[in-house]
Amino acid sequence: MTRRFYRDTWAEIDLHAIATNVREVSKLYDNKNVRIMAVVKANGYGHGAIEVARTALSAGATHLAVALLDEAIELREAEITEPILVLGRIRPEDVAIAVEFNVMVTVFQLEWLIEAKKHLHADECIHLHVKLDTGMGRIGVRSKEEAASLFRFIQADESFALNGIYTHFATADEQDLSYLNEQHTRFVEMLGWLKEWGIKKPLIHSGNSAAGMRFPEKAFDLFRLGISMYGLTPSPEITDDLPVSLKQAFSLKSRLVQVKEMPAGEAISYGATYRTKQREWIGTIPIGYADGWLRYHSTNGGAVLVNGQRAPFVGRICMDQCMIRLPGPVEVGTVVTLIGADGDDEITMDEVAARLGTINYEIPCVISSRVPRIYSNDKLL
Ligand SMILES: *Cc1c(COP(=O)(O)O)cnc(C)c1O
Repeated sequence: MTRRFYRDTWAEIDLHAIATNVREVSKLYDNKNVRIMAVVKANGYGHGAIEVARTALSAGATHLAVALLDEAIELREAEITEPILVLGRIRPEDVAIAVEFNVMVTVFQLEWLIEAKKHLHADECIHLHVKLDTGMGRIGVRSKEEAASLFRFIQADESFALNGIYTHFATADEQDLSYLNEQHTRFVEMLGWLKEWGIKKPLIHSGNSAAGMRFPEKAFDLFRLGISMYGLTPSPEITDDLPVSLKQAFSLKSRLVQVKEMPAGEAISYGATYRTKQREWIGTIPIGYADGWLRYHSTNGGAVLVNGQRAPFVGRICMDQCMIRLPGPVEVGTVVTLIGADGDDEITMDEVAARLGTINYEIPCVISSRVPRIYSNDKLL
């Protein structure tokens, strides 16, 4: 899948790690009839949606989820035929496209159904998952009245097939479980309404990585596995509680394009904010903020690994390049690890996220499409 590239910066995606993570997580459900919906939105959290989807499916996932209709179409065009759910709202006027590509969509508004109906031919049927807002406050049906009219409309019309009902947790990755329990209880209560209305239960799902791994007993029919499929912990708060050991799949690498010995007092990069303190070896690497390697990486002790040793960023990160202080003379062409392991040391996604004051999810997502993704186990594809 990798296109030809001519630059010395790339992301290495370990598909074997992804397959292992899916299998390890599946073991939590060995005796239960719960299937895995692999979440590959945002280009598979920056890892490559098609490659991750194929790997997850081959490792036992049965469903896929994306955020956008466009992302679902990309998977269909790659000849992926398993069920795909769009988690976000699609425009009602695009409903025929979702039918054409056999994609399930999320609904939570009566007006959406009324409008979508106008865009469907008599013999067309769209598969729906109704989203219930049990406390995330993002998208979803909140009240019994809203739910009643929505479900009634779906039941009464052959153009609509109710395939699933789901909700999303706001705090599944926290130590304090009170809000999660409130949401779960609310969800169960809302599902009870269906019985009242005589509606046969479709596929029910609630858990993301954090909930699905921590509380398998709370799962229903599907488990929406996202971040942990990529080998990342949903939050540092629960790292020690997880019942599976995860393997990080994403590494980011570059190569030194110049190494120069500099005397004390020389300036490095825009603003001349860094000056060599003594004789120093300065290396230049071809990655910058246009690659998603944000300027902030050069603060807060930001460093890379070169021959297994830490080398800090010096001076400001430019659009396409940045500089590091090397422990000594190193050959041009030497591999630099910005994320991942080298020798005995490792720069984890969590370390990089902490440096930027953010969460690990954000890091691979913002590494731009200018950085080619290469797949270390493409025999899995
Ligand atoms: C992104 C997303 C997930 C996956 O969450 P992770 O924390 O990455 O496992 C699950 N459900 C919904 C609705 C999402 O938007």
